Order: sequence, then structure tokens, then C-alpha cells
Amino acid sequence: MNEHDSERIAGMLEKVGYKKAEMVNNFKDVESDIVIINTCAVRENAATRLYGNLGQLLAKKRSNKKMIIGVGGCLAQLDKDKIIKKAPWVDIVFGTNNLQSLPALIKRVNHNTKNAVEISQQLKVFPSTLPTIRQNTISAWVPISVGCNQKCTFCIVPQLRGQEIDRQPEDILNEIKALVNEGFKEIILLGQNVNSYGLQPSNYQSDKKYNFSKLLNQVAEIKGLQRLRFMSPHPAGFTDDVIQVMAKYPNIMPAIHLPLQSGSNKVLKDMKRSYRINHFKRVVNKLRLAIPDIEITTDIIVGFPTETQADFEQTLKAIKDINFLSAYTFIYSIRPNTPAGKLPQLNPDIIQKRFNELTNLQSQIMLENHKKYQNKIVKVLVENIKGRKDKITHRLTGRDKHGILVHFTSNNELKSGQEIDILINKVAPSHLLGHHIKNRQSSALKSFNILEKTKQQFN
Ligand code: SF4
Repeated sequence: MNEHDSERIAGMLEKVGYKKAEMVNNFKDVESDIVIINTCAVRENAATRLYGNLGQLLAKKRSNKKMIIGVGGCLAQLDKDKIIKKAPWVDIVFGTNNLQSLPALIKRVNHNTKNAVEISQQLKVFPSTLPTIRQNTISAWVPISVGCNQKCTFCIVPQLRGQEIDRQPEDILNEIKALVNEGFKEIILLGQNVNSYGLQPSNYQSDKKYNFSKLLNQVAEIKGLQRLRFMSPHPAGFTDDVIQVMAKYPNIMPAIHLPLQSGSNKVLKDMKRSYRINHFKRVVNKLRLAIPDIEITTDIIVGFPTETQADFEQTLKAIKDINFLSAYTFIYSIRPNTPAGKLPQLNPDIIQKRFNELTNLQSQIMLENHKKYQNKIVKVLVENIKGRKDKITHRLTGRDKHGILVHFTSNNELKSGQEIDILINKVAPSHLLGHHIKNRQSSALKSFNILEKTKQQFN
């Protein structure tokens, strides 16, 4: 969600006459007239990083008095008073609900040299109505809701983003149609809890029967939409109608990110996650029955304050039993004013040990899962993003239908947005490596001939 907000911020800056500057690796190298830091407060170290970066920008501001420095996003929402106190050279502070105010705040700073701060608790303008510059020209995020009505005890999102507000279905469908017409191949529907779409009393839709499966169905029907994904669903509200729609449309990708968080029922209860491990497994089984080639990824938190060694072992067991394609694993971090933050915390050494054990196990599982793609041909959507080593190795990057990162070489000129066949020749826990096969049939024939020849030699 924050990354998408950054696209909206870039869009608004362009609208008021700014041009995107060259990417720099360090704040010390920034030469722009305006710098906006869009922050995230979901993890604890964001504040330390923010003040470090602001310190580096102070030197820049001393040599360029006209430079405007702004801080937006979750941390701005949370630390509104602290930021100006700790870093008075910051000109603008705006919250997650005030993206639309940025142009006015810039004007205010230009006119009266005083800091401009705007933080609202309630969303007034849905960010999707604001201009945008998309980072990726193939795949676009489209928010369907903002905020969350759940009360997970470790999570700061409801405090920062407020209660869930759903976007009007027509706005969502119109935005997606426009994106497909512009040439976008993939749409990712975004929401803190997508499957509660349409169910909130706070939403401003008139048709209360319009829910997430209906929206998904209508989006999948959009002509020319090649790939459709969504994130993140809540395991508790994952209903059969959504699974049926997923199974019905080939352009809904057979991939789902389903956050488990813990394999222990006791910890799930303490986290106020409203499902238990058996329910989670039931949802996974239904998904696998309806969509046999589906791949499932997840989020796991290690070191929740009440997690015992036995609880942690249940998480390890769940990871093995469910066989996730990949898992984002996080060390629990205290978030201010959350119920879990007030509990006695675990010893950091114990947490680190558990975290290492979990990531090692998950890496092994990921590698094993990726091995099934070895020597297989996968369809990859070529992206305009570059991997770290792509420049040196002349390789390109794309994603398969499950969202797996695939690096590949090709003898042909390829354009981003093309869907091509890649023969996988190497696998790693985080990605696949392969070569572009231009003619799938002739390559299958080739391997068949080689096989025959080998057989003959043995006979
Ligand atoms: S569902 Fe829970 S973890 Fe997800 S955003 Fe809402 S409160 Fe946070």
C-alpha cells in the first residue's frame, strides 16, 4: 500500500511541475529541489532510519536553502509532533489520509517559510482518484479499500490507516479498464483485508450484497486483462465463492498469499487472529482441490510475546505440513499502543535463534518446491524491472503465473509485457534461472529426439 502511495505522491508532484530525479543510493547524493520520504511504521526500525536519513538531508539543505523536505506515510501519522521537534528542517509532514493535500502544503511552504503539517484521522479523498506515476508499466496495483477493521494485537495498521473504507466498484472497474487500455498486463487488487470488501457497515456502497467475489468476477471479465492477482486475504474470511471465481477464470493467477502468522492456536488467539490452524488448513485444501496448480505463500511472525518453544515448534510443523511456496518471516517488533506491545517481551537471543531455524527450514522448502520447475518450460511475463545482477549478466527478469521471480537470457529482442516460454535450467530458493525458448513445440521435439538417441545408445 505504501509503495502505491509513493506512486500517487510522484504523480501529484509531476502535476505541480516537478520532474522525477535520477535514482540515488544515498541521501547524501540527493540534488533535488524537493525530497519526500514516504515512511512505513509497520516495523520498529523505520523511525531510526528516518531520522538518520533526515540528518543526511540537513547538510544538503544547508547548501540549497530552497530544498523542500517532506515526510509522509505511516510514521508521519504516528510521530506527527516528534518529527518537527527532532528535525526542524523538515518543511512538510503529512499523514496517510492526506496525500491529496501535498500540492497545497508545498504552496504554503513556498509562501510563508513555516513548516506545514497536516494529519487527519479519517480518509477524505480516496488516493486512487489522485494522479499517479507507476514504477512498473506492466503490472499495476489497484487499491479496492483502505484501512482495516480487524484488531490483531501486534499490528499498528488500524491506528494509522483507520477503519476500512471500500472504494466504489465502478471506480475500481473503470481504473482497471483504463490501465488495460494503456497496455498494463497484470492487475493486483490491493487491500489490507481484501475479502472483507463490501461487508463493512462503513463502506459507501449502496448494494450491500456486492462482495469481494463479485468484484473479482467482474474484474476477471475485463477484456484484455491477462493476469489478475489480489492481496492480502484474511484466512478467516476466505469464502468458497472466492475460490469458485478463482477456479473459473484462467486470467486469475493460481497463486495466493495467505498470512498464517503462527502455527499455534494459543498464539493465534493471543494475536486476535480469528481463525485456528485447522481452519487455515481447510482453506488451503479447498484451494488446492479447486485449483490443482495453485501455489501458496504466507507471512510468519517469530517471537510474539506469548510464544513458547512448543508454540514455535507448532509453527515449524505447520510450515512443513502446508508446504508454502515461500514465506515472509518477520521478527516480532513492538508497535506503540498495541496490546501485544504492553506484554512482557521474549529474550531477543531466543527470538533470533527461532528466526534462524525458521528461515533455514523455509529456504529448504522453497528450494525443494522450486526443484519441480527444473528442466520445465514456464510462461513468464517479461517485466521492465531489473534484478541486481541483470546488467552484468545481460539477463532479463519476469514472473511466472505463481509470481515466482525468473531471471533468464534470450537471443531475441524482447519487450516488457511479452509473455514468453522459459526453459528452467537452474533453481535457487528465491528464484528460477533459465533461457528463452522461442518455439515451444520444436524445443519439445528436440528433447524427445535427444532422449531417443540416448535410449538407442544404451540398447
Ligand atoms: S488484518 Fe490484522 S494484521 Fe492485517 S492489517 Fe488488519 S489488523 Fe493488521
